[in-house]
Amino acid sequence: MNLSTPVANITRVGKVTASKLKRLDIFTIQDLLFYFPWRYDDFSMSTPIAQLQPNTRANVVGTVEMLNNKKSFKRRLNITEALISDDSEMLKVVWFNQPFIARNLQVGDRVSLSGKVDSDHGLTVMTSPIYEKITQQVIHTQGLVPNYHLTSDLSQKQLRFLINQVIDLAQQVEDWLPETIRQEQRLLTLATAIQKIHFPKNQQDIDQAKARLSFDELFLLQLQSQITRQAIIRNKALPIKFLEPKTKELVKSLPFVLTDDQRKTAWEILQDLETDQPMTRLLEGDVGSGKTVVALLALYNTVLNGYQATIMVPTEVLAKQHFNSLNKLLSGFNINLALLTNSQQQTTNQEKITKAELGQQIANGQAQLIIGTHALIQQAVEFKNLNLVVIDEQHRFGVEQRQTLVAKASSTDQLMPHLLSMTATPIPRSLALALYDDLNISIIKQLPKDRQKIITKIIGPEERQSSYDFIAQQVGQGGQVFVICPLIDISDNLGARSVKEEYDKLSQQIFPNLKIAMLHGKLKPKDKTAIMEKFSNNEINILVATSVIEVGIDIPNATVMMIEDANRFGLAQLHQYRGRVGRSQHQSYCFLMNDDSTSFGQQRLAAMLEYDNGFDLAQADLKFRGPGEVYGTLQKGFPELKIATLYNYALMKQAKEAAMSLLQINPNLDNLPKIKEKIVNLAGLSHLE
Ligand code: ADP
Ligand code: MG
Repeated sequence: MNLSTPVANITRVGKVTASKLKRLDIFTIQDLLFYFPWRYDDFSMSTPIAQLQPNTRANVVGTVEMLNNKKSFKRRLNITEALISDDSEMLKVVWFNQPFIARNLQVGDRVSLSGKVDSDHGLTVMTSPIYEKITQQVIHTQGLVPNYHLTSDLSQKQLRFLINQVIDLAQQVEDWLPETIRQEQRLLTLATAIQKIHFPKNQQDIDQAKARLSFDELFLLQLQSQITRQAIIRNKALPIKFLEPKTKELVKSLPFVLTDDQRKTAWEILQDLETDQPMTRLLEGDVGSGKTVVALLALYNTVLNGYQATIMVPTEVLAKQHFNSLNKLLSGFNINLALLTNSQQQTTNQEKITKAELGQQIANGQAQLIIGTHALIQQAVEFKNLNLVVIDEQHRFGVEQRQTLVAKASSTDQLMPHLLSMTATPIPRSLALALYDDLNISIIKQLPKDRQKIITKIIGPEERQSSYDFIAQQVGQGGQVFVICPLIDISDNLGARSVKEEYDKLSQQIFPNLKIAMLHGKLKPKDKTAIMEKFSNNEINILVATSVIEVGIDIPNATVMMIEDANRFGLAQLHQYRGRVGRSQHQSYCFLMNDDSTSFGQQRLAAMLEYDNGFDLAQADLKFRGPGEVYGTLQKGFPELKIATLYNYALMKQAKEAAMSLLQINPNLDNLPKIKEKIVNLAGLSHLE
């Protein structure tokens, strides 16, 4: 066996397991070794049974004294009960619907258990703990046990067992990082890091392994970003003149006064556009801070200069919304807007237009400002003279998608278009600078003046009815309401509220006289936009939706955001939802529905009452749920980062400096074919070859 041996050849891997592994993109032993755990259970401490405390998690080692399997006919449950003893006390253990446990364990077996401790009429109980029979080598419940992201039908145990079998082959993994850099950075060899990430002896092993593996990813990202930057600097762009009087006219016609931050950021952007260097700027501003209109000023100037401009957004609904609102703001300014998504094609003058016709108008320049989704980066779309690309909610797009759109504009001549990315993700400036070496950053810190603070409340089961009464009142005054549920369908999962269920309940029982609609990802794009359109025209009072409304939606008339099972969402995500209301002068409300009475859940949600900006909330989530949740959405924009986290600023800086010094002495990465190959794969950059 070697690194490229298919996993199917490992002892005890059948076809079935191999095909499950395939779903995780694991084909070879090498893939398996590079499938890193995302967290560890710390079983290094076990608690004597006598000292167990209810409502805590604990690890226990003991002997099986009694084992019994029974069926509860009433609830159609299979119940396995066991009594476990150590030197101190007896513990009752219960498992549901896992009848095989009674076959795997026998009285007299030594077992190691890990789970939540409860108390049942004064008796200490553990319900459905993870268990493992103690033979010689315990890999599942002792010490630091790795946890992997899995598909539903592959177990942690299976995967650990497999990796355990091939871990020695890690020694064959070739280290592509130049030895000098490795030593300078005091990093483990790649082989050792892989061994330790899967089977750490202690926390230090994990830290060192993570440092090495994260460094690898960040180092490559930095190399790529710096190479891109050099390419940008080498490229030229057509300058876009800032046409001041005309811009002022547009600003004057807006239904509001720009905030100082909007003016400042627009100015920074317009200055960039005037040079013959392609702009690469990130516009960052909390939800509702008014980024769209800042982009509008840049788009408008581009068109006035005789070029095409485009704005790419992540969803059909958002595309339609931008099209409508920009069309409105630009009415009377004689600009041809076009909307291009997979299911919608429209222009300022033509409500219905075929794809082919619209394609022509984009190719011949008749369409001046094009708003669209991923559809814009499809092969068939050709622009006449695209010179500004705006990417809204940029974290929703991968590096590659962003580059494809830019490449579309530059394919005609040797010129690059100007690029403006927009995001509401609260990235601290320092992080952003470390992360995107190839970007300049503008930040909108203030919200428009007329905004009132959104009143946020955590609502338990006992206050549910009064919150419905309140909603009825708001609708009576002309307000509109969002109700967000974690699931689409009740059958999707147990325990969480679903859109369909809530929709039925609200429309039949609670508000039979109101106009209620549902919105979720399984609807056809056309139906989604139709519903949003109706909601936007206040023909719908209450919209029951899943996370599809998370980004960007702007309904100034909406005043209540009710979020079911609020605890299922990250704080940053809740903040995004909350940002869907309070977008006008009306007082708005956010109800965080919470049936979870644990103090952990309460405390976390309480952060929503305390903070009203995305950055503080991200920090709070960092405390409660760990970095994975916080930078979750941002991190999705970096699929190449599997183990490195974006919050590890120190390591990022380290990687950046290492990348810079390498490129300084070896700008073409001569004699480093492995690194070249990795970077090319990373970004589809071929100009290194
Ligand atoms: P985001 O930054 O989240 O994309 P939008 O650009 O969608 O925010 O703007 C949110 C809402 O605020 C829109 O309805 C927009 O018309 C409005 N808006 C933007 N700028 C101002 C301003 N300076 N004063 C008042 N309202 C504004
Ligand atoms: Mg927006």
